[in-house]
Amino acid sequence: MTEKEYQLQQTRVMKFYCRLPEYFLEDARIFEGEIAVSTGPIAYEQRQSLRYEAISEGMPWGKLWDSAWIHLAGEFPESWKDREVIFQLNVGGEGLLFDAQGVPFYSITNTSSLVRHYRKEYVQFGSCTTPGKFELWLEAAANGLFGREEDPDYPDQHGDFGSIRKLRYGLFRREVWALALDLEVLMSLLHFPHTAGDFGFPETPAFPEGSAREKQLMRILSRAVDCFAGNPENATVARAILAEALQTPALASAMTVTAIGHAHIDTGWLWPVRESVRKAARTFASQLMLMERYPDYVFGASQPQHYLFIKENYPALYEKIKQRVAEGRWELQGGMWVECDCNLASGEAIIRQFLHGKNFFRDEFGIEVKNLWLPDVFGYSAALPQIIRKCGCDRFLTQKLSWNQSNKFPHHCFRWIGIDGTSILSFFPPEDNYNATLVPEMLNYGVNNFSENDTIPEIISLFGIGDGGGGPKEEYLERGIRCANLEGCPKVRFGRADEFLERLGKYEKELPAWHGELYLELHRGTLTTQAEVKRNNRRCEEMLIAVEKLYAGRDLKEYPARELDRLWKLLLLNQFHDILPGSSIAPVYERTRKEHQDILESCAKLMAALKDKSDCMTFVNTLGTPYHGLVKVPGKEGWLPLTLAPHESRTLHTFDSENIVCLREDRVLENEFLRAEFSMAGELVSLIEKSSNREMLSAPANVLKLYHDRPNANDAWDIDSFYVNEELADAVWCTKITPAKSGSLWSELTLEFAIGDSTLRQTVRLAKGAKELIFATTVNWQEEHRLLRVEFPTSIHNGKANFDIQYGFLERPIHRNTSWEEAKFEVCQHQYCDLADSAGGLALLNDCKYGVSVHENIIGMSLLRAPTYPDKTADRGEHEFTYALMPHTGDFREAGVREAAASLNRPPLMIAGGLKAWKLPVKLETFSGSVVLEVVKKAEKEDALVVRCVERHGRFGRCEIHFDAPYRTITECDMLEWNPVGKAMKSGAEVSFRPFEIKTFLIK
Ligand SMILES: [Zn+2]
Repeated sequence: MTEKEYQLQQTRVMKFYCRLPEYFLEDARIFEGEIAVSTGPIAYEQRQSLRYEAISEGMPWGKLWDSAWIHLAGEFPESWKDREVIFQLNVGGEGLLFDAQGVPFYSITNTSSLVRHYRKEYVQFGSCTTPGKFELWLEAAANGLFGREEDPDYPDQHGDFGSIRKLRYGLFRREVWALALDLEVLMSLLHFPHTAGDFGFPETPAFPEGSAREKQLMRILSRAVDCFAGNPENATVARAILAEALQTPALASAMTVTAIGHAHIDTGWLWPVRESVRKAARTFASQLMLMERYPDYVFGASQPQHYLFIKENYPALYEKIKQRVAEGRWELQGGMWVECDCNLASGEAIIRQFLHGKNFFRDEFGIEVKNLWLPDVFGYSAALPQIIRKCGCDRFLTQKLSWNQSNKFPHHCFRWIGIDGTSILSFFPPEDNYNATLVPEMLNYGVNNFSENDTIPEIISLFGIGDGGGGPKEEYLERGIRCANLEGCPKVRFGRADEFLERLGKYEKELPAWHGELYLELHRGTLTTQAEVKRNNRRCEEMLIAVEKLYAGRDLKEYPARELDRLWKLLLLNQFHDILPGSSIAPVYERTRKEHQDILESCAKLMAALKDKSDCMTFVNTLGTPYHGLVKVPGKEGWLPLTLAPHESRTLHTFDSENIVCLREDRVLENEFLRAEFSMAGELVSLIEKSSNREMLSAPANVLKLYHDRPNANDAWDIDSFYVNEELADAVWCTKITPAKSGSLWSELTLEFAIGDSTLRQTVRLAKGAKELIFATTVNWQEEHRLLRVEFPTSIHNGKANFDIQYGFLERPIHRNTSWEEAKFEVCQHQYCDLADSAGGLALLNDCKYGVSVHENIIGMSLLRAPTYPDKTADRGEHEFTYALMPHTGDFREAGVREAAASLNRPPLMIAGGLKAWKLPVKLETFSGSVVLEVVKKAEKEDALVVRCVERHGRFGRCEIHFDAPYRTITECDMLEWNPVGKAMKSGAEVSFRPFEIKTFLIK
């Protein structure tokens, strides 16, 4: 066979394969249908109350996010008895079919312009047992699998939805369908274009180009097409020819692939969360149906929140899932409540993801999941390994780092070591995909790409339609069966992920190690996009912990456990990896905004419930560190200086707040520690730490810079490195400076800027006795595709800087010597970053900003973005945030940088009235000065206190824990509060900590 002849045959086979679906239906008929449209979902039970009208193929019925009930009626003729029936249904959107009892049994989806073969419109109904009239109920949604796909560079390109395309039923020509699958698998061995394996990664044909086997297979394919000769009755004969190739066994040394059915369901993304409820139902119903048909098939799903959606909305479906879980054919995956973002969520929030997630699985299914399952999250903090381990998991799975823009991550199976030294066995499925398709070329890509394939003879494949849910179609399972023992292909078998991950344990000692964060070299904009959501998330995280401590200081009978459980779960849901990062559509954020508001208002109510009516004000420091700062008392002029010990509450009847100020001529703010001077242009031109007389700046600082921000792709997600070359000249100018005014307690000046079409106002404040210069900022932001950053050129030279992360900090280089360092041009911080030499340095604190860079001597922080996709108006409007500069001498740990950042983020609770006898029953006496009492709450499952203490300085730590009656004993336990890890001790127990160690105790 010449090359030209090979290409001729390839084209012919390809076209033949594409035509085969025309033959799937024999004796096709069209359903009679009627439809009732609504703007949102209507429950099955309420469907009869709607008004219906007749519908037929070709009719439009709804606009984006509309919902409909479709009633279909047909008639099976007598001649169809005991023959297989198939439906072809395409309603221009997604759909869920219900059986006669009102239980969902199968789903359809019309389109995805991203991946053509994601379309699902054939429903294998089974045998026609009773000919005659029949009816069906279908719930339709006018949106594609990915909502409405759009690209800001090609605005006209989007999914097509909201019209009826196909309402057909007929006899099922199973042999033609099977022929298509036979062809598909063999074509994939030869890497035909546009087949199910075509995801755009490097092609991996099974045989060398031009090899004899390649040509032999092409000849076999071509003979099968000859045989078919345009007649579907010949499918069986054509298949017999292909069987020759399909029955050639795999090499004895071929690797094994454990294939587990998977459906990545984003809890909210290009569709609102309410649609995810139905996406979960569509996915799970279809998978249960496939389990009936394929007895070896195993499906897995993570995210207890999705199981709760099903429990609350589809109880019969939920019972079926429970049964499959009990049989071991449905695998519960992951420990977290949702697959949450791991850059931005706080340390405590991540622990609560596990706490609520694992409690749900244990309560509902009696199963403890031992792996963390986060295939799609945008980077993984170096604080995670310890949290994973102490939450009872010992394996971690993702694949996201395969998306790196610059560097290929060197391992797929490795020991991941966190800031405290905890090691977690981690695995990246080497197909670089969680939407795998079980075709040979993708499987071959997986085994060849697998970095540890010289040691470990097996991989895992997460196959099925995902992101918008769905899971495998029948076709995927059929392909897996054909690839069980096929020449040129690894051996596929269906199985559980937990068993696969467990088997990796025996290689653990030989595995390479990776220390520190798993930084995703992409999606750096998600540290900044949807700024309001990030700010409210931070406030909610702080507030919930504060309120817990307030109630932990009282009789536990009064503890509002149910309400706090509800509020935490609202917060956890909104930390999903497309919600908190800012990559969702506007309707998702309408709900997030309401839910964050609900949390903050409910916390305020819980606080108010504890006050008495006296005419006073109570301040409660809920931090495990001292508070020192100014507070604004509602209804009072000026500011009140306040110093409180850790967990101290103070009731004041009179206020020392002061508003008498003297105006100054200059632009200098000064106290006993700092002197800050601003120029006429609004720049901070000098910042002196007075005890060392050190100028902290090397050039004007607090410089606002506006950049054109147009990443190559993924608008809301990405900041590409070239943004730095696109600074807009003359886009920022200072429009007004009010001269400094000062009183005995604080001094301040105000700066106003015009930035493009936006305005920014800063009140710069320095309190007496304070070490931080505060920049309280409001912005009216009206930009499009712009990035606003603030920069601070410092006089400090050091090779490294420190960044606050979850319950610890991370040291990162400030240079770009290697491609790995170069890729980290924008990194994640929580409440502070610090650049210092051994004599001292400068910390930048913030109350809600996560995207930061420290490059050589310049600290830069991203403030606002303005992407247009997927939310056209993301971030336009009013913003409020505060950052602060804190020069210091010596080490940042001893200088109290973390404590100052904590005070900025969680000022004392203010209660208008007296607070009845509040005293936290637990007290730490710390010898190293570095162990902090972070959390005191009621235990989830018993009347006991849970206390969480953390070593925050990254060194050995020691403390005594004291507690009051009626509590009698303290026992260390895991973070889930399930398992004790030490003996019961008395009050005053001395406890030691590894660097960054997080310890949890039960006090009874
Ligand atoms: Zn996702």
